[in-house]
Amino acid sequence: MLKYLTRLKMIEQNVSQILSELPAGVELVAAAKTRQPAEILEAAEAGVKIIGENYVQEAERAYETAGNRVKWHFIGHLQKNKIKKAVRIFDMIETVDSSELAREIDKRCSQIGKVMPILIEINSGREEQKAGILPEEAEQLIREISAYQNIKVMGLMTMGPFAGDPEDSRPYFVETRKIFERIEQLQLPNVDMRYLSMGMTNSYKIAIEEGANIVRIGSKIFGERDYGTT
Ligand SMILES: *Cc1c(COP(=O)(O)O)cnc(C)c1O
Repeated sequence: MLKYLTRLKMIEQNVSQILSELPAGVELVAAAKTRQPAEILEAAEAGVKIIGENYVQEAERAYETAGNRVKWHFIGHLQKNKIKKAVRIFDMIETVDSSELAREIDKRCSQIGKVMPILIEINSGREEQKAGILPEEAEQLIREISAYQNIKVMGLMTMGPFAGDPEDSRPYFVETRKIFERIEQLQLPNVDMRYLSMGMTNSYKIAIEEGANIVRIGSKIFGERDYGTT
């Protein structure tokens, strides 16, 4: 019990520290996969405005606790059979990487009269097993998606390859920012390029230097993910 309370206190301190250091205009998404609703609530109380969830089922549980106090971003791999639930919970889906997925989100949103802000996930490391669309295919995908009435493309997201040294992430952030700027210049109808979501615990400072205005931070807020609650 004491350990648990200590952890909640730690979350509060971590959030305060991160928020006090983030430059103006950069939004913090607390990446909450595997965390308990009480931990998420603690982050919200400490000032987190956006929670990022990788799993719809986990998000449903957390949503019951923290609900309208925060915004919810989906940052995981969205399965087709979870989209109907997802569009009710989430305020943004950061991980759209195909027009089939976009079409399904659009369909489910039109059924509930919602327009879903989305980001296009870029596979900036060109890794075979990773989600995201290849950099050179992003523009075509966005042109297709821009036709849908119940979703709105609002920017890009990338993970980049896992790197021990944060500096190694920089080229992938640079490449994603260049795609962002190019698409922004096209001024496509129904596309509003506003958000660039890049950077996690070990790389977010580099990501901000390269133009990120959303950073997704998990372990630096909640602690390491291996303490056995999952
Ligand atoms: C887990 C996760 C993060 C946060 O990772 P940390 O290294 O714990 O900060 C960010 N983005 C996505 C998509 C994630 O799944």
